[in-house]
Amino acid sequence: MIRMASVEKHFGDLHVLRNINLEVAPGQVVVVLGPSGSGKSTLCRTINRLEPIDSGTIEIDGKVLPEEGKALAALRADVGMVFQSFNLFAHKTILENVTLAPIKVRKMNKAEAEAKGMALLERVGIADQRDKYPAQLSGGQQQRVAIARALAMNPKVMLFDEPTSALDPEMVNEVLDVMTTLAKEGMTMLVVTHEMGFARRAADRVVFMANGEIVEDAPPDEFFTNPKSARAKDFLGKIL
Ligand code: ATP
Ligand code: MG
Repeated sequence: MIRMASVEKHFGDLHVLRNINLEVAPGQVVVVLGPSGSGKSTLCRTINRLEPIDSGTIEIDGKVLPEEGKALAALRADVGMVFQSFNLFAHKTILENVTLAPIKVRKMNKAEAEAKGMALLERVGIADQRDKYPAQLSGGQQQRVAIARALAMNPKVMLFDEPTSALDPEMVNEVLDVMTTLAKEGMTMLVVTHEMGFARRAADRVVFMANGEIVEDAPPDEFFTNPKSARAKDFLGKIL
């Protein structure tokens, strides 16, 4: 579903992605771990071309990511992304946040978009907040809206970049529960997170990055009990 081959990326002199080869099969959940600055966010951002790459290829569902134009917009619509900062539209209601893109980009009619939007808000446990504005919701609620908003586009893939890092501890689980359910339902997911419990429970594979490289790529059991590289051992020693 996602296939990255020989991807290279620099920011000026800084080599941030080094020979990235990564495949995520349909329905797979891959958790990306690694120290700060190792390139995890950049990796996510290249997958929907929020960041251009220097060389290599990225395919979504068998189609190479185009450089720009309508084809890029179409492929991008297949990739849902949820960030650490919820990035909701502050001046739109919760329901409007979820219906906006389906109406504008997918040309769905309003009634249909609202019915679908309500079903998604229901699914993330927040339908009763439909007429509020983002600032009136807790962080955990806002992040669940962000997930519903991404799902409203019927994405083929969901990317999560530290979706719980900005949340108060008591709200982390309500967001992880939604993600765990999505994973069980068969969504293809790439998740950057420091939540090791989620990685153990929901991931098919853990990809460990250091210094722009994928250093390990293994099932969670194997990675957590028997990391192979010194860098992964060091990383796990600090966080577990
Ligand atoms: P963190 O765990 O702190 O979120 P990360 O693994 O997500 O880190 P990235 O944000 O991908 O790391 O950054 C990788 C490297 O690229 C870092 O050294 C960062 O400073 C640098 N970098 C990221 N974005 C840019 C940019 N737009 N311009 C220049 N350098 C950047
Ligand atoms: Mg990051």
